[in-house]
Amino acid sequence: MRPFDYARAASPAEAATSGAEAGTSFIAGGTNLLDLMKLEVMAPAKLVDISHLDMGEIEETEDGGLRIGALVPNSDLAADPRIRRDYGVLSRALLAGASGQLRNKATTGGNLLQRTRCYYFYDTAMRCNKRQPGSGCQAKDGFNRIHAILGGSEQCIATHPSDMAVAMRALDAQVETIAPDGATRTIPIDEFYCLPGEAPHIENVLAPGELIRAVRLPAPRGGCHVYRKVRDRASYAFALVSVAAVIRLEDGVIADASLAFGGLAPMPWQDKRIEAMLVGEAPARELFALAGELLVDAAQGQGSNDFKIPLARRTLAAVLGEASGLEVPA
Ligand SMILES: Cc1cc2nc3c(=O)[nH]c(=O)nc-3n(C[C@H](O)[C@H](O)[C@H](O)COP(=O)(O)OP(=O)(O)OC[C@H]3O[C@@H](n4cnc5c(N)ncnc54)[C@H](O)[C@@H]3O)c2cc1C
Ligand code: SF4
Repeated sequence: MRPFDYARAASPAEAATSGAEAGTSFIAGGTNLLDLMKLEVMAPAKLVDISHLDMGEIEETEDGGLRIGALVPNSDLAADPRIRRDYGVLSRALLAGASGQLRNKATTGGNLLQRTRCYYFYDTAMRCNKRQPGSGCQAKDGFNRIHAILGGSEQCIATHPSDMAVAMRALDAQVETIAPDGATRTIPIDEFYCLPGEAPHIENVLAPGELIRAVRLPAPRGGCHVYRKVRDRASYAFALVSVAAVIRLEDGVIADASLAFGGLAPMPWQDKRIEAMLVGEAPARELFALAGELLVDAAQGQGSNDFKIPLARRTLAAVLGEASGLEVPA
């Protein structure tokens, strides 16, 4: 690990001002950043410690939703009675991620901004456009079993690793930030992440120094909440494919549907064509199979990850079956 300066911020505004200095990173739980620093994948000149700031509350909002402070630990968020009752998909996604110890340290803001688990990104001897722009992508012609089948580019096919972010996307969360000049903004999560395109090192729309203060959830939308994560082991493994679903039935037809996917793309993935196809229809195996076809119609396997295409199709069908009370084998 390379030497670095350390400062503890006294307020979110002060953190954002210090964060604008070149080479500065925020540290919250440190469960991803410290690993990357030890491997010299990231080598910030200065760390601004935000872990003691007043951003650890879950509050009710005027519009009937919740405001989750950026420092709320993943374990507290998963256990919160309001989250368990009204946003079950989020609680389940959080509990499907990492381990109990990690969830105690990992924060809401840090989870959204954790870096990809692409093996070549973590190995500084390998080519990686995300770590070192312009150096190439070892995964394209290497072992790419965990990589993206949707939304990747010639420059990068890494997936976004967060389970929580997938549920947040299905729930239409918004990310609240403060910039170094004190300006605040609220960014819908579907505008928060960037696809790699020609610049895989740019992963989100945050400006230098911009600090996440909170994540806002809209009023509960009801329905049945399901999070299913397919992975190599029962615990401690990132998703190969995951599906977050909120489905509400009325009079035997699907009245509301919201879906998001993990393990498939460089960002928590959504395809609004699927919801449009489902709403107004009665649950049926054939319908769910068609939804799966739509999900992967533009998918591109990279060799070792070709299996994700049928796996994504089948996982979606199974989740839709579970959420609408119709058993569909995975
Ligand atoms: C063994 C292991 C297994 C794991 N398994 C899973 C899994 O299955 N699913 C899953 O989703 N995750 C998993 N994780 C990842 C874990 O969830 C993340 O490391 C954690 O959520 C990051 O949160 P943190 O607070 O520790 O972030 P940090 O490591 O402190 O920060 C991560 C990044 O976010 C930035 N940052 C943090 N807070 C803010 C803020 N408020 N504003 C702006 N920038 C900020 C930091 O500068 C840094 O770049 C695993 C991690 C490990 C080590
Ligand atoms: S997939 Fe992305 S992160 Fe992985 S080696 Fe290629 S450029 Fe780097």
